[in-house]
Amino acid sequence: EESEYTKDEILEKRKKFFSSSVSVSYENSDPLMIMGGYKARLIDEHGNVYLDTRNNVCHVGHQNEAVVAAVQKQVGILNTNTRYLHPNAALLAERLVSLLPDPLCKVFFVNSGSEANDLALRLAQAKTKSNNMIVVDTAYHGHTLSTLAVSPYKYKSKEFNMPFNDSLGKNVIKVPCPDTFRGIHTGDDAASKYANYVVEACNTYKKRGEDVCAFITEGGLSVGGVILPPPMYFKKCVDAVRAAGGLYIADEVQTALGRLGDDCFWAFLHGGNDIVPDIVTIGKPFGNGMPLAAVITTEEVSSAFESMGVEYFNTFAGSPVCCAAGLAVLDELERNKLPAHAARVGNYLKSKFLSLDLSDCPDVNIGDVRGRGLFMGIDIVNNDMEPGTLETSFICTKLKEDFRILTSIDGPHDNVLVVKPPLAFSIEDADEFIDAFKKAAQMIAKIDKSKISKTPT
Ligand code: PMP
Repeated sequence: EESEYTKDEILEKRKKFFSSSVSVSYENSDPLMIMGGYKARLIDEHGNVYLDTRNNVCHVGHQNEAVVAAVQKQVGILNTNTRYLHPNAALLAERLVSLLPDPLCKVFFVNSGSEANDLALRLAQAKTKSNNMIVVDTAYHGHTLSTLAVSPYKYKSKEFNMPFNDSLGKNVIKVPCPDTFRGIHTGDDAASKYANYVVEACNTYKKRGEDVCAFITEGGLSVGGVILPPPMYFKKCVDAVRAAGGLYIADEVQTALGRLGDDCFWAFLHGGNDIVPDIVTIGKPFGNGMPLAAVITTEEVSSAFESMGVEYFNTFAGSPVCCAAGLAVLDELERNKLPAHAARVGNYLKSKFLSLDLSDCPDVNIGDVRGRGLFMGIDIVNNDMEPGTLETSFICTKLKEDFRILTSIDGPHDNVLVVKPPLAFSIEDADEFIDAFKKAAQMIAKIDKSKISKTPT
């Protein structure tokens, strides 16, 4: 697709009409103007094709034909709000529930991950009559006031202190991120030590004479740098929270629908098949780019919410068009066995990174390769085994400029290259990525490191 406007013209309009707090990737040098896509590829205004290792929204591939056809068909027939009956929402709710363990059975459609988590907090408050939250350091759960209050990621080094929303801010206890590679506990008993902070948080509330509302976490912490806690962590945390009257909210906004492989269709299953959350939220991948998100909960929690006597209405949520996209996404996952594909390609890429010979790249080392399926983090370190923040930034920029590969960086030290591509990412794509990664790493030895900027350009 060609553009009527040049990239510079669009950039100028963006600078003029957008707040600078709305960021754009590769902002410091040469942002991309993306006009098209297919599978795990994106195409700029000149027709240059990029490999996309970072887009976890277009889950079954950019411009997936089946999703496009389903959306095009439905938008030509009806797209209205949800006051009326329509098969798409009902059928999608049924499909979703069939993919989740008992007793998760009641679905609320919403429009984004933040809305999903906001509603999850409301549901949990209705059930527990408490708003005392326990959250994991480095986690992100959304951009609304209520969800920001449980998003330490946004406050990085600052004291965890909400300027506007005292109602949740004062009732949030932050526990350390259960990172067994770089965190405060790394030994065999790390799972138990990390879970003890959740036990302690419950005790803190108890000492105040208060109940716990909920422990909210992802099964694998995305923006924290792809941290998969040791599985035992979840049982101990969830047992403690439930004993204190609280609920377990699993934020699956990034990790749902088979990204972690067919043996971990939901990331909460990483904690064991018997640890079923009280509330699950999903978003990003569900509509393959359409604004479709959902909260799924138990009959018990749903009834507590109903007994508050407040109608739940959400104008756009569960529209026929977005639900058509959702149904097509679930069909595509099944038809093309994409979760199994994610496991296979993920394992392949992981083994390639683990065996990568970087002996000719004296400044770059791989500290850790972690994750499951196509949810992977490559923790890059320097020669002192310290986080390679500059090196990671350099590699990310080179991958884009010299190899047309789009990557993203996360983790508290900005040194984790995160791999979470559309599940259409193939073995050939993995080979292309690993070859380019090695070449980009080799280039570091040849440049003056003081010239590398800390944020990728
Ligand atoms: N939860 C997690 C784990 C997320 O990563 C995000 C978005 N990055 C959200 C919630 C918020 O979703 P949205 O941007 O759709 O509101």
